Amino acid sequence: MRVKINVTGIVQGVGFRPFVYRLALKNYLAGYVRNRGDAGAEVLLEGDTLNIKNFMSDLTEKKPPLAQIDSVKSVKLSGKKQYDKFMIIKSSKEVEQSGSIIPPDIAICNECLAELRDPENPRYEYFFITCTNCGPRFTIIEQLPYDRENTTMRDFPLCGFCQKEYNNPANRRFHAQTVACPPCGPKAYLTTKTGEAVSAKDPVREAGKLLSEGSILAIKGYGGFHIASSVMLETPLERLRSTKHRREKPFAIMAKSLEAAKSFAQVGSKEHELLSSPARPIVLLNKSQSYNLSPLVAPHLHNLGVMLPYTGLHYMLFDQVEDPAFVMTSANPPNQPIVKDNEAALETLGGTVDYFLFHNRKIAHRCDDSVMRVHENRQVFLRRSRGYAPAPIRLKAKSKRCVVSLGGELNNTACVLLDDKAFISQHIGDVENVETRAFLQEATKHLYHLTNCHSNVVACDLHPKFTTTALAKEMAQADGSPLIQVQHHHAHAAALMAEHNLQEAVTVVCDGYGYGTDGGAWGGEVLFCSLESPDFMRLGHLEPQPLLGGDFASRYPMRVAVGMLDKAGVVVEPWLMQNSSNLPFGETEAKLLLDQLEKGVGTIETTSCGRVLDAVSAVLDVCFERSYEGEPAMKLESAALTGKEVLHENPILHDDMLHTSNLLRAIFENKQKFSVADLAYSAHSYLAKGLAALATENATELGIKQVGFSGGAACNQILTKVMREAVEAAGLQFLVHENVPAGDGGLSFGQSVVGGFSKF
Ligand code: ZN
Ligand code: ZN
Ligand code: FE
Repeated sequence: MRVKINVTGIVQGVGFRPFVYRLALKNYLAGYVRNRGDAGAEVLLEGDTLNIKNFMSDLTEKKPPLAQIDSVKSVKLSGKKQYDKFMIIKSSKEVEQSGSIIPPDIAICNECLAELRDPENPRYEYFFITCTNCGPRFTIIEQLPYDRENTTMRDFPLCGFCQKEYNNPANRRFHAQTVACPPCGPKAYLTTKTGEAVSAKDPVREAGKLLSEGSILAIKGYGGFHIASSVMLETPLERLRSTKHRREKPFAIMAKSLEAAKSFAQVGSKEHELLSSPARPIVLLNKSQSYNLSPLVAPHLHNLGVMLPYTGLHYMLFDQVEDPAFVMTSANPPNQPIVKDNEAALETLGGTVDYFLFHNRKIAHRCDDSVMRVHENRQVFLRRSRGYAPAPIRLKAKSKRCVVSLGGELNNTACVLLDDKAFISQHIGDVENVETRAFLQEATKHLYHLTNCHSNVVACDLHPKFTTTALAKEMAQADGSPLIQVQHHHAHAAALMAEHNLQEAVTVVCDGYGYGTDGGAWGGEVLFCSLESPDFMRLGHLEPQPLLGGDFASRYPMRVAVGMLDKAGVVVEPWLMQNSSNLPFGETEAKLLLDQLEKGVGTIETTSCGRVLDAVSAVLDVCFERSYEGEPAMKLESAALTGKEVLHENPILHDDMLHTSNLLRAIFENKQKFSVADLAYSAHSYLAKGLAALATENATELGIKQVGFSGGAACNQILTKVMREAVEAAGLQFLVHENVPAGDGGLSFGQSVVGGFSKF
């Protein structure tokens, strides 16, 4: 019998062809296997019918650990036998919209790690040791199919030893495209901040020693540069912080090992699982009682972002030092994407670091680390990037159309939706300038190439002034495709519904800002959405509150607090004048604010949940400036962690609105009576219960059984927990995100869902 088989899914870059080869040999079959230009694999088999049957069942049952098989289509061929043995042959360029994709980058596997430590092994201490089961993929691929000449490994021709392994079917590196060893592979080297070579026999371990001694280094990894420093010494941390944009923003750190992480943080079983998974994300861990790292690592927060080493290089950094961890934060110049090229690194990071640890392999596509946290044993994505992108989110239903979406503005991603798969790009960042715009375009184009998708709908946010909106309009016009603009919170809700395969739901969507259908600033919304409809119903929202000085108020929480308290009937002057030093222009600014209040000018209104949390954090002296996205709310959550309900304010609901003025007033008036922790907790509790009441009342009326929670504020553990309890107590099912970020990193996915599933 002769059959031809097309396999789709993640079957390139995961040792699939070697696996097929071994399987064919085991079953006495002749023919070939080859990669296709659409990221799929093609197999031709000749032999006994029974042997082919056995081959087919083994194919899906015994597939390599990282392979993901979506479909296996086989057709019987007529004609005579043409092959006398089985071979891996040259890839074909054939393409169709198969939904196949290449895998994300994969952390060093245990076998490679053991070889790295084995003095007898030829790759002993080789910092870029990899095999078919591990190593970079997404970040080195320029085009499909996944062959070495299509990756940035093409600059490193195989030596005789590596070639032999590459050709040996019994070897783990049989047809491994990233195979390399010390003589033939990428090399690491140290330089000063101006790029002069620093001679070191062992540059990686030397870098580790420099970090331990207090130097700041830029270290090139798989998807870009990290800025690294000690987590113990104040001096380098202070130096890092002294650059304006890093005053308070927590630094992610890389721990030497799981044991080392446990010496300063709490690691539960779910955290353990995520930390050591092949994706190796940064996981937010609660600081433990024995936390002994510098407070400058994650100032005024109860948790910190920790990841484990994911390359040989990372492991080796710790070899000759006692440090339990190093700061390992993405190297982004202000408002720019992570730095990936050596020259750009010298140019933009030279002023920040003392040394560079370079390697000479090019990064084809930049990719930031992913960030997650765990809520009650459930994973929550704060950022879905390295280790996950570009693997698709699988939906339970097929989209009507192929859609490309460009997301919003902050923490952005792009998304391509094809059939039942959504391919979300790596983290792009804040699309506000030329560099990030270019990165977004490049990442979208790359997704197009990888999925071989030609979209027939372009989706973006409703905001008329977003860079992504303009870009989407250009793309739609160029392709002659329809453009669909999706309201921000509708996109959040749709993302959640698609994740859970819901046709209809009531969703609470809380975040900082989204452009409303009335042009207003929304951010504390209760929506009813149906997957079939391009529209939605706004069932309720938080009380609109004034922002004194508009956008400026989202930077300085005092301004929100003053506006809200004044609206609540509190005489704010004494408190404002007493605390004017917390405003950037002190008394002058305070007087100006009072003047504005009196005249009722210079304000815009918002229903934002984020701004209410900001105001509470200012009233409780927790945070007076948002120096990074979400700072006041994050610090308030930290402050609330040990608190309990003390206010017992009944949520005031008026028709479709949850009042918040009364909440802030109650907090203000009880400041002397209760602790900051208790009041901070009570604020969370009020908002969560009030929004849950709005949602459950409406859901019951509409006959809807599911209530969801989405938006950036859904990353808040306390809000989520209290809301879950309230919704479940009402007899409804409560749903949160599991595989897509609740924040704006999930927005492009939600836009795609509206573009792909609704009737228009
Ligand atoms: Zn490996
Ligand atoms: Zn070699
Ligand atoms: Fe949002």
